[in-house]
Amino acid sequence: MRAVSVIPGQENSLYLDTNAPEPDPDEGPVLVEAIAVGICGTDREVIAGEYGEAPPGAKRLILGHESLGRVLEDPTRTFAPGDLVAGIVRHPDPVPCPNCAAGEWDMCRNGRFTEHGIKARHGFARDRWRVQPDHAIRLAPTLDAVGVLLEPTSVVAKAWEHIERIGERARWTPRTALVTGAGPIGLLAALLGVQRGLEVHVLDRATAGPKPALAARLGAVYHHRGVPDLDLEPDVALECTGAPTVVLDVMEKIGPNGIACLTGVSSGGRRIALDAGHLNRQLVLENNVIFGTVNANRRHWRQAADALLQADIRWLDDLITRRVPLDRYPDAYTSPGNDVKAVLEFG
Ligand SMILES: [Zn+2]
Repeated sequence: MRAVSVIPGQENSLYLDTNAPEPDPDEGPVLVEAIAVGICGTDREVIAGEYGEAPPGAKRLILGHESLGRVLEDPTRTFAPGDLVAGIVRHPDPVPCPNCAAGEWDMCRNGRFTEHGIKARHGFARDRWRVQPDHAIRLAPTLDAVGVLLEPTSVVAKAWEHIERIGERARWTPRTALVTGAGPIGLLAALLGVQRGLEVHVLDRATAGPKPALAARLGAVYHHRGVPDLDLEPDVALECTGAPTVVLDVMEKIGPNGIACLTGVSSGGRRIALDAGHLNRQLVLENNVIFGTVNANRRHWRQAADALLQADIRWLDDLITRRVPLDRYPDAYTSPGNDVKAVLEFG
């Protein structure tokens, strides 16, 4: 069996193991044949040796946390052979903490959770993988070309769920949403905003490539200048760049009772000037909320599957700007400028 692997902590150790063992039955009774895995910045961090951890007792880690596959066998009969599924990335910590005990492992308190293809658990970038039935999400057969987008969609489904829960602290009638960053997370966040009936504005530096048209086809308004230049006061902002100046601009830009959700992971180490008193005054006087979000639990994965089913499949398909066959796997992990989402295809 083939498996895209790394030695965690070792820079540029990416290799294709062509003699990988079949998945261990301990990983779960549901045996799945891989269709595709999506690639994101986390994979590149693991390949760079900055992040990632092999399973206990192992030296290598199989990559891949954005999955799509077809069930080969499931003795529990939760799934039928041929069902389209994606595997949930994070597993609860072994203690477990109160959140993990309640199935909210996305809110784990002690950091001892494990994640497929990232942290102490093999990933899905292999010909076949196994999973527990409660850690697989069924997708409609019509999503066979785009279901690999379920993982990034689960992240934005959680973001929107938390925005709505925070909004319900008072009378909540949001009208406009601003999304900064038109990568896969930003565009999927915009999709879920449009599905909620909001007027969505997408802001990104790109003036060429597929991003402006992808935003326009959603019915969103695309902007390529800075956040301060926008002539609007969004009720909701989803910050998906992690760029420090954009993050601060978004905090300043949200309107009265506005909610800013931060999803981008910044690298740190860069200082920028900030009038903290002015920002604090504005947050207080406008009842603003700034919050961060990461990962997703089973409920969000199901919400994401519903969101993909409601979306235009051609639009989702165009979000995948590169499909790389497994025998050219190193190409999938490079990041050419105009990519939105690259996927590695099996089969
Ligand atoms: Zn936990």
